Amino acid sequence: MIDLVSKEKLFRRYDGAGPRYTSYPTATEFSEHFDPDAFEKHLHNSNESLIPRPLSFYIHLPFCRHLCFFCACNKIVTRDETKALGYLDWLKREIEILCAKLDTDRRVIQLHLGGGTPTFFQPEQIRQLVDHIQRHTRLPLDDDREWSIEIDPRTVSRDSLKQLHDVGFDRISVGVQDLDTKVQQAIHRTQSPPETIEVINHARDVGFQSVCVDLIIGLPFQTSHSFARTLSRLLFLRPNRFAIFPYAHLPHRFTPQQRILATDLPSAKERLKIFELALRILAEAGYVHVGLDHFVLPEDPLARAQRNGSLCRNFQGYATRPDCDLIGFGTSAISKLARCYSQNSHDLTKYLGEITHQRLPITRGISLSDDDLIRRRVIEQLMCFGRVDLGLVLESYRAVTEPVDYFPHELSKLIPFANDGLLTLSPDFIIEVTPLGRFLVRAICMVFDRYRNEATAVSHSRLT
Ligand code: SF4
Repeated sequence: MIDLVSKEKLFRRYDGAGPRYTSYPTATEFSEHFDPDAFEKHLHNSNESLIPRPLSFYIHLPFCRHLCFFCACNKIVTRDETKALGYLDWLKREIEILCAKLDTDRRVIQLHLGGGTPTFFQPEQIRQLVDHIQRHTRLPLDDDREWSIEIDPRTVSRDSLKQLHDVGFDRISVGVQDLDTKVQQAIHRTQSPPETIEVINHARDVGFQSVCVDLIIGLPFQTSHSFARTLSRLLFLRPNRFAIFPYAHLPHRFTPQQRILATDLPSAKERLKIFELALRILAEAGYVHVGLDHFVLPEDPLARAQRNGSLCRNFQGYATRPDCDLIGFGTSAISKLARCYSQNSHDLTKYLGEITHQRLPITRGISLSDDDLIRRRVIEQLMCFGRVDLGLVLESYRAVTEPVDYFPHELSKLIPFANDGLLTLSPDFIIEVTPLGRFLVRAICMVFDRYRNEATAVSHSRLT
């Protein structure tokens, strides 16, 4: 068994900056030459599918009442709710414009409201938004649906949770990050443990069938001891999922992070200890580790998807329906169709301007080549299952090439990973990531990222 010091050395060697691969190619490769016309061509092709492809809608609601110093999201911080009212109207117009281009047979089976803070808005406003979607597309309120909403515990009551459940949401993601007071003060996000616990209990009482708790590792003043205390308090509530993300300190890219002192952050060794401890505590509590950063109860749809091979990666992290096209609405939202990604404008004024002219507010994106599709499949398999059969992937894209000919450089770059015990590579080119390598799977994925070699100095988060 490898000791902590050797592990730390490995982490130092491989734990550089790297993408989280919620898409491949990553968003840094999106081009401004990709315009709404290009997107519409892809959408037309997708509409032509003989079996209507189901849809997953993501709605970005970028407003927040408070600024969290660690935040890297696209958001607008204001306490003035009237500032946000116009946004909902523009969002509805965008929904109308886009839904008019969708084949009417296509059903929306997943709906996710994210932010920002979706609960910045009143439940009645959210109801009107959902009603609007239902008027313009097929969004059935049936048992197959997966409707989720991100909740800031500081902005909801039992009553508002009940109203959101009545609208049709059956899952919530609760932003917690850490329950320790000192950590909360350092990140400018104070929410008392009783407040958080009460919200989770209320959510269960009013009927939400799934509660996901979001936590972050690597925040200022966090220690393995403090994080274990946070976890044990939350485990008592038995959430269906934990999503545990590594904090990426990039103050040159995200201004709010300049309020966090690098000297207050846990050392690499402490981060590693926190990760290992979290893994052990969650495994002992019966949670299944899914993909990179999710821990779920064994009967959770994500665990089932991991078991039956249907787990997939998207901008919300992990999802269960690889057959869905993802359509994003709102500022900065990203859409994913079979052969393209597109992104709406980050800039609110520009976003509104495009919609005023009845145009989709898409400002960049990328059409995928056959090579992109092959590499995306390889990376997605590694991120979801920690295993990939390179020959099978090539075969599924009818590439008449052997892995050794298609990936000669990649295969040689994998040798150090294999020598360090992070993966195994079989003679028939099946890569299996080891439990140790799972921590560093992003570094393994980077080997297959063709654009990395061409990339200029673009910073991403650290791998753990
Ligand atoms: S972490 Fe969430 S609530 Fe905090 S500023 Fe960012 S988007 Fe808003």
